[in-house]
Amino acid sequence: MYKCKEQLGCSGRNITPYSKDGELKFELCKDCGIIWRTNDSAHITKPYEEDYFISKKYLKKRRHKVEKSGWLIDIGRLNHPDISSVLEIGCSIGYTLEAAKKRNIGHLGIDISNYAVDFCNSLGLNASFTTLGKLKQDGQKFDLIFMQHVLEHFEDPFSTLKECHSLLNNKGRMVILVPNANYKRANKFRSKHRFYSMKGVGSEHFAYFSYANLPKVLEVSGFKTIQQNYPVFIDKYDSPKFFVNRFFRHSLAYINSDQELFVVAEKVG
Ligand SMILES: [Zn+2]
Repeated sequence: MYKCKEQLGCSGRNITPYSKDGELKFELCKDCGIIWRTNDSAHITKPYEEDYFISKKYLKKRRHKVEKSGWLIDIGRLNHPDISSVLEIGCSIGYTLEAAKKRNIGHLGIDISNYAVDFCNSLGLNASFTTLGKLKQDGQKFDLIFMQHVLEHFEDPFSTLKECHSLLNNKGRMVILVPNANYKRANKFRSKHRFYSMKGVGSEHFAYFSYANLPKVLEVSGFKTIQQNYPVFIDKYDSPKFFVNRFFRHSLAYINSDQELFVVAEKVG
């Protein structure tokens, strides 16, 4: 049974097949709109080591990617001058960590890939092969948690968000990017699109959200959504290049052409 039944009060009966690529299947919960990987295909996995990063061309255009990650930090810390520490879950090869360091914000990245952690460390970035549970045990707290294309990799996104909640300081924030379930091409091509295919990222992902349900998922996990989609106008940290980037990405949502959702949420209670 999908987690939305106990967490969002879905009936558990309004489930319909969504895509099928061999053994890899997804179903849509029509009550909440989340697209879940089926339980009988949950065992399909992919290793996250060196080949993974090379195959995704992660190593190219580092400077540009660090700049963009920095913009996301700047949106995340709008109207919150006290943000002085960032935790990135799934830090990959450290774009956000490097951007945080440049802004004199304390940073820690965690990743399940040894390759990614070693790579960050070799650049002098603070990354660790550890878990959220271990950080919690150690009593660590942060002002801002980053999850860029990570939440969809967890079988139970609700419990992951609750762990994040306990790792945040008062009024701490989360910056979350996930694939967009309403992305036009994915919705049209289903198992032939990389979101849902074995060849693509389907075997890495467990859930696809939309702007209609992600705020609800956050709410039951102890967060209030304070920014949904890219803000067009901001008072601080702006530049012409940053503005054009935000305006472009913001606009894509109106024609369901945005491949990813962007949300900033604040810890409540
Ligand atoms: Zn549901």
